[in-house]
Amino acid sequence: MMELRAEKISRDFLRYSAKDGYFTAVAETDMTLAGGTLTAVTGRSGSGKSTLLHMLGGLMQPVTGRVLLDGTDLYACSESARTALRSRHIGIAPQRLMALAGLSVRENILLPALLAGRQADAGERADVLMEQLGIRKLGAVPPSELSGGELRRATIARALVMQPGILLADEPTGDLDAENTRLVLDILRAAADAGAAVLLVTHEETAAAYADVCCTMEAGRLVLQ
Ligand code: ADP
Ligand code: MG
Repeated sequence: MMELRAEKISRDFLRYSAKDGYFTAVAETDMTLAGGTLTAVTGRSGSGKSTLLHMLGGLMQPVTGRVLLDGTDLYACSESARTALRSRHIGIAPQRLMALAGLSVRENILLPALLAGRQADAGERADVLMEQLGIRKLGAVPPSELSGGELRRATIARALVMQPGILLADEPTGDLDAENTRLVLDILRAAADAGAAVLLVTHEETAAAYADVCCTMEAGRLVLQ
């Protein structure tokens, strides 16, 4: 099982209206995501949840601190090494929906396998995930024809297709009805039970029931519940 550990990571952004020209989106934060564990982070919009998730996922360099993937400092290595580690070990379902318009839904889901050059069994896993998420029939369709909720579920399948040791899901149920919310939370729970370290950023009140660890983000500070 893998572990992702953040030590005193923080991030500011330039903001002219702020007192010294900077606004602290995430104050110095320690966090450990352990294999087999689902950690839920809730909190108001703008409290820094996505910024924290991006730093953990190797997508945004923290201003202070380090992010260790099984002991390897994600931001001390070259960008290509970081990209390789990310594509091999970290699945990310971003808050903002993204898909390549020229590819079918199934091809979009398989993209991480294509980029990692590890396509054996990926097709089968994509089909199983699409079935579990209720989008199996949409595999051949272009992403532009999907509803927001369908595309949301496709991005979750894409994050899971490589069976990553670390899974970071940013508001994965934001645009889903109650039934699909349950489907997605069940799948994230199953990934944790299978050994993944799962981070779930959510507004969903029922999420706590699926989590092993619950935290709240308040104005850039993470508070353990
Ligand atoms: P949340 O996910 O909890 O809604 P975010 O992490 O997206 O919060 O944003 C936290 C704060 O940081 C917000 O006030 C937002 O405006 C600011 N912020 C986020 N990303 C950027 C950026 N790239 N440039 C400037 N400010 C940003
Ligand atoms: Mg967010």
